Amino acid sequence: MTYLRALREQRRGIVVLLGWSVLEGVPALLSGRLVGLAVDRGFATGRPWIGVGWLLLFAAVAVLGGFGLRQVFMRLGAVVEPLRDALVRQVVRGVLHAGSQTRQPDASAVARITRHVEVVRDATAGVLVQARALLVTTTAALIGLAATVSSLAWLVILPVVAALVLFTLLLPSLARRQRNLVLADEQVASVAGTVFLGVRDVTAVTGADHALRDVGEQVDRQASATVRMAFATALRGVVIALGGFAPLVLLLLMAPGMVRAGTLTVGDVLAAVVYLSTSVQPALRRLADTTSTIVLRLVVALRRLAEAAPPIDVPAGNAAPNGSDIELRGVTFGWSPTAEPVVRSLDLVLPKGSHLAVIGPSGIGKSTLAGLITGMVEPQAGEVHFGGVPVRSVAPGQRHDRIALVPQETYLFTGTVRENLALFAPTASDAALLEAAEAVGASALITRLGGLSGTVGHSGGGLSAGEAQLLACARVHASPADVVILDEATSALDPSAEAQVEQAFATRDGTLIVIAHRLSSALRADLVLLMDGGPPLLGNHDDLLATSPLYGDLMAAWQPTPISPGH
Ligand code: ADP
Ligand code: MG
Repeated sequence: MTYLRALREQRRGIVVLLGWSVLEGVPALLSGRLVGLAVDRGFATGRPWIGVGWLLLFAAVAVLGGFGLRQVFMRLGAVVEPLRDALVRQVVRGVLHAGSQTRQPDASAVARITRHVEVVRDATAGVLVQARALLVTTTAALIGLAATVSSLAWLVILPVVAALVLFTLLLPSLARRQRNLVLADEQVASVAGTVFLGVRDVTAVTGADHALRDVGEQVDRQASATVRMAFATALRGVVIALGGFAPLVLLLLMAPGMVRAGTLTVGDVLAAVVYLSTSVQPALRRLADTTSTIVLRLVVALRRLAEAAPPIDVPAGNAAPNGSDIELRGVTFGWSPTAEPVVRSLDLVLPKGSHLAVIGPSGIGKSTLAGLITGMVEPQAGEVHFGGVPVRSVAPGQRHDRIALVPQETYLFTGTVRENLALFAPTASDAALLEAAEAVGASALITRLGGLSGTVGHSGGGLSAGEAQLLACARVHASPADVVILDEATSALDPSAEAQVEQAFATRDGTLIVIAHRLSSALRADLVLLMDGGPPLLGNHDDLLATSPLYGDLMAAWQPTPISPGH
């Protein structure tokens, strides 16, 4: 799961943090022992100065522990901030991805969800500080205890361990009850809100009884959720109290006899009391009130995060394509399992170097086809292969490098012309960038912008849609992609500028797929795919003109002078 993965990335920082915790645990480890020694060797034998010496040593150890704690806090940020960044990145990516399915990324969802991320960050920090400190001090104190009163060790340690185990077992049910309580709260608010808003209508239709019953039902439900939560909390308190007090009581019951028999010294008993009362008991109490609340908050926030931004399905294979041939076999895809498929049983083979034009009315599925070829969309049936392997099994980095899609809406960002052009070719020389610009006919534009170091505004501000498209085309022309898909990428250019762009890509190495905005694109291609809702038609211009009345009609409507085969 996302959180664990993000946490794993911070492994190093967490290990360092735990390393310093060991130092923090030293005072808890030695506290009872040092106090015991101060009594046995000093105060009880009439040498108070020696006793004071041991106590001073204890003070020094406490300072050392404080230093460890300080280091823990200083290193906390190094773990928690990157964790937050990683989670936010995943959430934003998830929302954008969901948006690419529904067309509109949901900005408010990002805001809403990043609040959960904030809780997760806080609670993670809390857990790292509190739960870790509890673990360290309890373990250290128990070790110290076992070493000091070894004959009683299990008698004392067993109740503490049993309490911890029971407490852990109780946590899931606490989390469930907490969540039910939150949901019941929300339900009451929503039902009551509806009724109060419509109170006049409710009275008008004498529906008061009915409304009362509705609200009452929710209130009852909330009440029982609260009671159940209270029971669980009380049980938690009892468990913790038993773990904290039982050992102390047992110790005090056994101690007098053992001291008299000489198996324990007074200092040992005092040491055990110090361990139990200054380390173990406070730790358990803190576990009951603050720590478990933090853990519950963390669990609930993580669940809501998972519901709100489900982990996205980025195909993450590692297959190595052999060449860059594209092959679609029996590909069928509809936007939902019940919807009419937009692509149906499509067979298409494009050896490296092909030049295909896709034509058809808008909304027929041309962009969907582009998504299938790039591997962004998974076919419901059939297979899409790139270089002989399923395109979605190619490592994402390689897929992005080798298949470039230029959409109709261009993406330019604030920065220099050079940065915008080199987006997919970060190592390209200025000469290579300018050459690409020249090829697609963007040279004059770039000169006007002040050359490669000229600036482009936010979202290409200051540029016309056509100019922005030219830059986007130059950028992909300069990239190392073997397959270029222009999805109406020249829609804002005039026909002759469009012809130059297509010409530039046709003479570039690799495969070109032009999703045509104008039928003229079909004339320039070697192969034409006509999508019109029926079975897709595939052929070169002359074949289609000869065999498809529809294609002939389209051409005739577009170009009044008939085009003869062999043109
Ligand atoms: P074209 O590119 O030919 O204009 P599209 O491939 O964009 O057509 O769309 C084909 C059909 O699929 C349309 O009916 C469109 O509404 C639908 N569609 C496109 N994208 C999505 C999507 N993300 N979710 C649901 N339906 C979609
Ligand atoms: Mg489209």
